[in-house]
Formats: sequence, structure tokens, C-alpha cells
Amino acid sequence: MTEYSDEILDSSAMSSTDRNGRPIPVTIPIALAPGITVVYTTRLGGLSTGDYGNLNLGGKSGDDPEAVLSNRIALSEAIHAPLSLVSQVHSGIAVDIDEPGHESNTEFGFDASGTHGEEPSTVIEADGQVTSRPDIALGMFAADCLPVLMADPETGIIGAAHCGRRGLERGIIGATVELMQSKGADPSRIIATLGPRICGDCYEVGDEIADTFIKRFPLTKTQTRFGGAGIDIAEAAMIDLAFAGVHQVVDSMPRVHAATEYLEEDAELAELCRTDGEGPAELAERIGNISRSTCTLENPLWYSHRRAALAGKTHEGRLLALIVRH
Ligand SMILES: [Zn+2]
Repeated sequence: MTEYSDEILDSSAMSSTDRNGRPIPVTIPIALAPGITVVYTTRLGGLSTGDYGNLNLGGKSGDDPEAVLSNRIALSEAIHAPLSLVSQVHSGIAVDIDEPGHESNTEFGFDASGTHGEEPSTVIEADGQVTSRPDIALGMFAADCLPVLMADPETGIIGAAHCGRRGLERGIIGATVELMQSKGADPSRIIATLGPRICGDCYEVGDEIADTFIKRFPLTKTQTRFGGAGIDIAEAAMIDLAFAGVHQVVDSMPRVHAATEYLEEDAELAELCRTDGEGPAELAERIGNISRSTCTLENPLWYSHRRAALAGKTHEGRLLALIVRH
């Protein structure tokens, strides 16, 4: 069902710069429906350094604000659309960014994430965004949490949801679909895809949390590779999508898998693996260990809060999962 373009990656595997001298973000594009594109950013092609290297787009974890700003501007230029960012708080709240007051307020678009260096006056706490406008990219930050991207191709209404354990429990998927519906979308026409996230084999939470989670999302408890109880947040999202009437779910895995193979010898990714201390120093070994390329913990392309924590780090970067209608 997915219409893949010929491009595996929306950038050269070599590090290259745009006309302003900024590294070009390495992103993975997925054609969700005609005219509607989903984009996942990777760790490659940005100005962040150290634990945040290289394409951190999040502003809450202590990275240099100038690097984050540069990365966001470069991303906006690379995908030919202003970004729309909100302050994600693991809520069940979705916002309609077509309402007044949501106009561009930064060089890269609309920033209500409360993380911009020059602190725009608008901060919106939400975990879902919806628009009927073309040429604006709804962006959701993640580093293990699951981004869900959705579109009703007939009306052009798009939505994005940030689905961590708590956001799922608070009904963020239902809230986002409902808001799309209130603007004229029909759940039976909505096409959704699930972005990079920590998988059920890797997301250990312990019995207490897992047993609470399965009361809301049956059969999502797992036994992880670490030996304890875990949960599968993607399976939980599938349950709530179905409950909201969304049954067309496109798999992002084939494209992500192809992009990962394509980057198997990438010099920038090899350097990150050599220096990040979050796994084997050899890129080939890390890629050989991947069982799910969409898993943020397994695949060195992605930022992972859990992988960073296991390596003894206190912070890490954030990817953006975006959806835009051109
Ligand atoms: Zn995994």
C-alpha cells in the first residue's frame, strides 16, 4: 500500500552542507499517501556534539541552543516546510494548530515547545497536533516513545501523536483522531504509520507497571531481552487506533530497514558508534545485532533514552517524526 519513492534517504550518505554551511539532516522519508510525506530524522547531519551528536532537535535536555536552532532550520529547509513544535508532556491532549495564534514565530516555523533559545511567548503543552493546512510539518519529538503519524488523504487533514506509556494510557491516540474527525476527517479513510520506538523486547518496565498497562491494553506485556517484564507500546497504539476506527496502518519498517542497510558503511554513523559508548564500537556489529530496525534502542540511527541511560548517561538527543502535506 505504501508508495515508496526511489530515494531511501532524503540526503546524501556523505556529510554535506546546505548553502548556509549547515550540515544537511539525514532523514528517512515515507510516502504515506499521494502528496503526504512522513519524515523521520536520524542522528546524522547536524551540529550537535557529544552525547547529543549530531542531529538533536529537542531543546529540553541541555544541548547547546544554537546547535538545536541550526539543526531545526536545516531540517525545515531540507523538507521544504516550516515546522510546528509543541511542548510534549505525556498528556492525552491534542491541539488544532490552525487556530489563531499558531503562526510562525521562529526562523524554522511555529515553536510552542518552550525550548527555543529566545523563548517565544507561546508554550503549548500537548502530545497531539492536527492541521488541515498544506506545507506545514507537524513534528513530534521522541527518543524511545512512539510517534504516530496520520492522514486523511481525501480532506488533506493530517495529525501527529507522541505516544509514550503515559500518553497512551491517557488516550492521546483517541484524542488526536477525534480532533481530526472534528475538522472533517473520516477515521475509515485515515492512513496511519508508526514511527521509530523502543520495541517490546527492549522496553523493560517491571511487573507493576506492565500489569497496570495491560488493564488498558490487553496482551501487550512482554518478557524483555534483559529478562524482566516489559510492554509493547506499538501494540498498544494499534489497539487504540482500531478503537478509534483507524484500520489502515502502513508499515514504516521496510523503508527504515533499507535505509539502515544503506548506512551500513556510513562514515558519520561509524564515528558516532565509535565514540558514543552506547554499544559495540564497530558499526557493522551494531547493525548485525539489530532485530528490528525501527527499535530506537537497537538501531544506532536513532536517539534512545533507554540506551543512553544504560550507558550511564544523564541526557540524550531527540529525533523528530514529522508529517507534511505538500
Ligand atoms: Zn528493540
